Amino acid sequence: MHNKSVAELSRELESGKISSVELTREYLGRLKKEDEQLNSFISITEEQALADAHAADEQRAAGKATPWTGVPFAHKDIFCTNGVATTCGSKMLANFVPPYDATVTENFRKAGAVCLGKTNMDEFAMGSSTESSHFGATTNPWGLSQGEKRVPGGSSGGSAAAVAARLVPAATATDTGGSIRQPAALCGVTGLKPTYGRVSRYGMIAFASSLDQGGPIARSAEDNALMLNVMAGFDPRDSTSIDRDVPDYTATLNEPLKGLRIGLPQEYFASNLNAAVEEQIRGAIREYEKLGATVKEVSLPHADLAIAAYYVIAPAEASANLSRFDGARYGYRCEDPKDLMDMYTRTRAEGFGAEVKRRILVGTYALSAGYFDAYYLKAQKVRRLIQQDFIDAFQEVDVLMSPTTPSPAFVQGEKSNDPVTMYLEDVFTVAINLAGIPAMSVPAGFVDGLPVGLQIIGDYFSEARLLNAAHQYQQVTDWHQREPQ
Ligand code: GLN
Repeated sequence: MHNKSVAELSRELESGKISSVELTREYLGRLKKEDEQLNSFISITEEQALADAHAADEQRAAGKATPWTGVPFAHKDIFCTNGVATTCGSKMLANFVPPYDATVTENFRKAGAVCLGKTNMDEFAMGSSTESSHFGATTNPWGLSQGEKRVPGGSSGGSAAAVAARLVPAATATDTGGSIRQPAALCGVTGLKPTYGRVSRYGMIAFASSLDQGGPIARSAEDNALMLNVMAGFDPRDSTSIDRDVPDYTATLNEPLKGLRIGLPQEYFASNLNAAVEEQIRGAIREYEKLGATVKEVSLPHADLAIAAYYVIAPAEASANLSRFDGARYGYRCEDPKDLMDMYTRTRAEGFGAEVKRRILVGTYALSAGYFDAYYLKAQKVRRLIQQDFIDAFQEVDVLMSPTTPSPAFVQGEKSNDPVTMYLEDVFTVAINLAGIPAMSVPAGFVDGLPVGLQIIGDYFSEARLLNAAHQYQQVTDWHQREPQ
C-alpha cells in the first residue's frame, strides 16, 4: 500500500477497495516505526488524522469526494495549522499553536485530505541540509544501507525524506532559494517551486517574502499536479498573490513533447559540477531528445552573481521578518526578564539558533545606513539583471534544463561549520527565486547509489508545461519509483 501514488490511492478509495480510516492507520503505523531512524516529522497528529479520515469516509459515502478525500499527506512545519503546533523548526516557536490555518492548509482541509503531521525543516527554512532544526537533524533514507547518515537536503528535508521513505505519498514544502528542489533532488523525489504569487503565502511563516513560495513534493509529476491543483490560486489575504485562472494541471500531462525546445545554460554545466552528476543529467537530456525535443546551448550571463545577490537579499528580508519574534506577543520568552531590553535580547539570544542569528546580523548590516546602497540596493540591481537573463533565454527556448545540485547528498556534519560551502549547494537554484519563475526537480539517475535531480526551469506560469515535461520523462524512466532499502 505504501508504494501507491496519490492518484492510485485516490482511485482505491473511490472504488471502495479500502477506507481512509484503514489507510490512515496503516500509514500511521509505518510512520511511527520508520521515522525513529529518519526524524522526518516534528509532530504526528494521530488523533486528528483518524478523525479526519473518518469524516473523509463519510464524505465519500455521501458522493461528495474530491481526488484528495481521505488521502494521507503531511505539511512542512512552516504552514500554520489551527490548533496544531507550528514550530518552523525553531525553539522560538516550539510551543506556538496557531489560532488559524494557512491558506494552503485550509485548501487541503477543504479537499478532504488527511494530514498525518508536520515535517522537519531547517530553522526558519534557512539551510540546505535540515541539520539546523531545533528538533534534531533529519536523515536521508538513501545512504543508510551503506551505513552512512547523509543529509536529505533542506530546508524541506523532512518532507522530501518522508516521501522518499514512503511514510507519506505527498508533503507540502516551501522554496526561497531551492528548499523544495534541492531536497527533492537529494532524496530522489519530485518537487515543484511555482511562479512567485501562484500559491498563497498567507499563514506560511515568512523567511524572505519576495522569494518565498509554497509548493508540492511527491514521488511523481502526476502527484505534483494533483497537489498544485489544491495549492494554487488567488488569495486576497496575500497581497502578492496573483489573480489568474488555475488550470487543471493533470489535464495536460499527456501532451506529446515533440518540438519542445530545451535550452542548456552553459553556466550551469561549468567546472563546479560533479562529473558523474553531469553524466546522469546528459543522459536525461538524451531521453528528451528521443521524445522529440530539440536541445541547444543558451547563456545566462549573470549566473555567477546569483549566490552573492541572494545571500544579501534573503538575509535582509529575514532580518526584517524575524524582528517580530521579540518575546512580547507569542513564541518563546526568556525567564525572569529584568526589563524590556533584557527581555528582547535574551529572548532572541536564547530562542534563535546560530544560522538564523548569522542571517539576522548579515541582513541588518546590509540594510543599515551607509551600507544599504553598497549591498542591498546593488543586490536588487543584480536581481533585475538575472531576471532579464531568463526573459531573454525564453525568447529562444521553452524550458531550461540543468542539474538541481552540483553533487549528491553529503554526509551529515560535513558542511555544518562552513556556511559558504553550504550556501554553494544552492548555486543552480537561487536564480530561479530571484527571477520569480517556476522550476522542478525530477529524479534522473544515481551516483554511487545516491539520487540525482534534473532541474527543469520554465517561464512565468508555465507550471503545466513543466509538469507535462516531467510526466512524459517519468513514462519512459523509473528513477522516481526506486525505493531506498
Ligand atoms: N538553502 C537556501 C538558504 O539557506 C534556501 C532555503 C530555502 O529555500 N528556504 O537560504
